[in-house]
Amino acid sequence: MKITHKAYHLALKYPFTIAKFSRTSTPIILLEINYEGYTGLGEASMVPYMGESVETANSFLKKVDLSHFTFPFNMEEIIAYLDSLESGVPAIKAAIDIALHDLTGKILNNPCYQLFGADKHLMPPTTFTIGIDSPEIIIKKVNDALADDFKLLKIKLGRDTDQLLIKTIREVTQLPLYVDANQGWTDKHQGLEMAHWLNEQGVLLIEQPMPKEDIDGNAWLTERSPIPTVGDEAVQRLPDVAKAKGVYHGINIKLMKSAGMYEAAEMIKAAKKNDLKVLIGCMSETSVATLAGLALAPLCDWADLDGPFLTANNPYLTPEFKNGKYVLSDNAGLGVLMK
Ligand code: MG
Repeated sequence: MKITHKAYHLALKYPFTIAKFSRTSTPIILLEINYEGYTGLGEASMVPYMGESVETANSFLKKVDLSHFTFPFNMEEIIAYLDSLESGVPAIKAAIDIALHDLTGKILNNPCYQLFGADKHLMPPTTFTIGIDSPEIIIKKVNDALADDFKLLKIKLGRDTDQLLIKTIREVTQLPLYVDANQGWTDKHQGLEMAHWLNEQGVLLIEQPMPKEDIDGNAWLTERSPIPTVGDEAVQRLPDVAKAKGVYHGINIKLMKSAGMYEAAEMIKAAKKNDLKVLIGCMSETSVATLAGLALAPLCDWADLDGPFLTANNPYLTPEFKNGKYVLSDNAGLGVLMK
């Protein structure tokens, strides 16, 4: 079993601004695992605010040696091993996990979604994300999303221009919206007022309304909000799921936070046990990580897997997208196709 990898500079179609950051590209690692003639593909997307980089990924990969696993597909064991090498660095762990799932699918001649018992016909619609921008750019992005056949938009909020942003979008489209405050709201009473206003504007969910540390504030808002709240920054890995109960209505799972598909699937099960809804999200990613998220998306309530639509140099063919939803193929593994 041999791991090879290369760094890749994933350019964004538009500079991306959220409540606390702005950037024009994302460093990613594209990884391959070769095993008995099969090749599994993986990806780590290392958005700067998560603390990983090409350097941290390289230094982690130097420690990884899968050769002592006689059966290198017991993912619980593999993830425990990766965690034992170093805490943190979930994105590069996800790259290994994703490649091993792609390999497993290829060896078994099964699409990855079937490995998780997902029904591809239950694919939720995915959102197209719009960052904080000038009204002209926002209108251009909304028109791009409509041209790409999106039926749902996700709007980044969390600054003092929130209402203006929503009003700008409503001049162009009446599509349902998700919003993400990215911890930008600091007053729960103002947050509740905003939640009621957003409800009247056709907003269906609010992601990470208040800072993740403000557990009481988020719980207070969740109890009263007319729209479901979803914890994102507050929920990284499996132990965070149970802590979200009573604080949010749902959680946002991203493979780059969960250390990959195995733990994401465990988090989905834990969410269901705790009566939490699940949004499956993404970072700036190519089709590799997006397809990994899509294999689990039919098990989730909501999806935000727009990576390939927001990036300018995705080396792979984007999975088929029709009427606001991705359509999964029956190809073995993730189904990644080169351009
Ligand atoms: Mg978010």
